[in-house]
Amino acid sequence: MGSPGWTVLPPVPLLGVGTCLVESVEHYMSRLAWLSGTTVSKICKLPVPFGEGGTGTVGKTSRFCGPGDTYRQRIRSLELLTGVDTIRCGSFFVLDRLLSTGAAGRFLTGHRWCPICYSEWSDESSWEPLIWRIDLIHVCPLHGCRLMGICPRCHTLPADTPAYAKRRECRSCGKSLGGPGRRTKRSVHDIWIEQQVCELVKFCSTPQQDEVGADVFRVFTEGLAQVALNVDAMPAPLVAAIDRLNDPATGDRTTLRTLVNLCALQGISIVDVLNDPRFAASRPLLDHWRDYSSIDFQDDERHSKKISAFRICLSRILGQSEGMYLPSIAVLLKAIGLNQDLALERSVDLYQSYKIARLRQGPYSTLIHTDRAFAAAMACIRDLTGKRLSARGPSAAFVTRIARIANIRGAEAREACQAAWVCGSALWDAKAILRQQS
Ligand SMILES: [Zn+2]
Ligand SMILES: [Zn+2]
Repeated sequence: MGSPGWTVLPPVPLLGVGTCLVESVEHYMSRLAWLSGTTVSKICKLPVPFGEGGTGTVGKTSRFCGPGDTYRQRIRSLELLTGVDTIRCGSFFVLDRLLSTGAAGRFLTGHRWCPICYSEWSDESSWEPLIWRIDLIHVCPLHGCRLMGICPRCHTLPADTPAYAKRRECRSCGKSLGGPGRRTKRSVHDIWIEQQVCELVKFCSTPQQDEVGADVFRVFTEGLAQVALNVDAMPAPLVAAIDRLNDPATGDRTTLRTLVNLCALQGISIVDVLNDPRFAASRPLLDHWRDYSSIDFQDDERHSKKISAFRICLSRILGQSEGMYLPSIAVLLKAIGLNQDLALERSVDLYQSYKIARLRQGPYSTLIHTDRAFAAAMACIRDLTGKRLSARGPSAAFVTRIARIANIRGAEAREACQAAWVCGSALWDAKAILRQQS
């Protein structure tokens, strides 16, 4: 039997298919709802062949583009409801077995836009591309101006509203989000990353593209690890990638930043890895490795201060750490309010150096008492001060107090208190950045 000739939803084509500027499914949904005279949440409530357990909610994470848990059923359903089989081209559908949730960045659930694209908007010929949602990208590929995530007038983060007519205005102040745009300087690294991401999005947007296999990241990373047996020091991004493979929580899925870093190491493109991971890993350009340092990713507005604070703090502590007890990195991240993945991806060299230095102190079981005393000392320091710690270090009375609270010997308590002092001072200096007005 042939096609019935009609579909539940109008067969609105996805725009820009086959190019790196392909429309995001997020935007497609909003446009489809507008053209059909309905809303995105009503479309999500339609009875669908690949159901979501009857919840019908729009959901909060990886709503339509992925990577994540729900977007694939949504896209399959949408393709059946519209009869348009290229909707998946506007998402990470073909990379589903390669990328972990959130792998393409933190703008997948936030709204980001090019002010020039918005001010030149035409309902007939404009769309929001998938590439805007990838946080490795900082400039509009068409205009070269900085993508925005914060309303320039009232400085709020505009919600990623599914209502087509409202997407281009700020919900708080009601003003248009369009504008002249701000040009931005890009390093050679930035341009190389943009090329990588453009190629990758083009790969995703190619109709009938085969899905990438589940073992691509493992084959590639293990291949690199083989090559690394012949070098003196394994590069930090590779160590981080191997850690990731061995962690059951992440396993064979990875993030775009990890891929970009590994590809920079090999001097190849991400698409080379997707096409033939074994070959991509077996072309070692060892000269690259010798003086390789991981890519310095540009930070987005929302996280740049915290990441700078984290870097300052870790460098300070490592600079003074000769023989000093080092606390778990999680303690420092918590004090700064920074997510672990983000810290690792943005500062992989520093993060790994710290982790190795901490591991050198001995296994977890031998650190457990010092960890406890350190936590007690940090808690007391927080109580003591709203100001910088004295340069003289912890007093004898302070050490005795911590020894009593943590129930450990004086020498161990002293070690923990001295470390708490160094970390407390480093955090104080690092947080000066967070206190600065933007
Ligand atoms: Zn633009
Ligand atoms: Zn506003």
